[in-house]
Amino acid sequence: MEHNGPMVIDSPIAMRDLVEALRSDKQRVGFVPTMGNLHEGHSSLIRAASEECDIVVVSIFVNPIQFVAGEDFERYPRTPENDLALCRQLGVEAVFMPTVADFYPRSSTTRITVHKLEQPLCGRSRPGHFVGVATVVAKLFHCVPANLAFFGLKDYQQCKIIERMVRDLDFPIELRFCPTVREPDGLAMSSRNAYLSKEERKQAVVLRNMLDRAEYVVKRGERSVEVVRNAMSELSAMAPLGKLDYMEIVDADSLEPVQRIASPVVAAVAVKFPSARLIDNALLNPANA
Ligand code: AMP
Repeated sequence: MEHNGPMVIDSPIAMRDLVEALRSDKQRVGFVPTMGNLHEGHSSLIRAASEECDIVVVSIFVNPIQFVAGEDFERYPRTPENDLALCRQLGVEAVFMPTVADFYPRSSTTRITVHKLEQPLCGRSRPGHFVGVATVVAKLFHCVPANLAFFGLKDYQQCKIIERMVRDLDFPIELRFCPTVREPDGLAMSSRNAYLSKEERKQAVVLRNMLDRAEYVVKRGERSVEVVRNAMSELSAMAPLGKLDYMEIVDADSLEPVQRIASPVVAAVAVKFPSARLIDNALLNPANA
């Protein structure tokens, strides 16, 4: 249902006051943190939040401290008008859009490290990235003290890190992790897909193909990680423009490497194309295979 459009709030204090007022009025508030340039993946989180909550708050903030040196912070797509129009269509009540200067005054030096979980997978090729993620999410949770927060499983390691941070630091918020929304050919939706050339875009389906292959061989009874990884890597020739950053099978909770698939694991891949680095993952549960 359409309404007058979301309230746009840039002040952290005004944002918190609003959510506190709603909650004291017994409204159940759902929060969807984003970096904007909203696509169907984000919409699915907003819809999930609307289903469970009375009020949905979205944040749009391109967080400078989660970009590693040399990454795309400056050119990251910023499309606030389209984003606000979509939020309006989806019935979002308020959009929190702080400025970098307000959110990170020059005197701000506190950072949150979720040890161990931030090391493997994307942590290796993007050192410091997850410190930036944990710090911004902690700050956002203070500005938007919602009942529930919604994240996408496309960023599986991010989900695990936030889950651990919430538990370790006693954040009074419940988390929901939502399935990855894909393009018709299987490519996970991402703002960075827009960077891809036509040829890169065609080859980008390789990530999903590798994960499908992993699911298939595990379903057929294979339990050796080495064999599964070999089966996945046979497909890398399909994407000559891509350079494999990592292709790993790790414990679904600890993200530590395993040799045999005896309990739920995550197959995670990252491929660097000349124009964008893409990630994807699949949860493999041998109990269901
Ligand atoms: P971002 O704006 O890329 O930081 O993403 C904001 C939230 O949307 C994160 O929780 C992401 O995991 C989630 N998200 C991004 N892409 C997708 C997708 N294709 N499917 C589901 N969730 C997604």
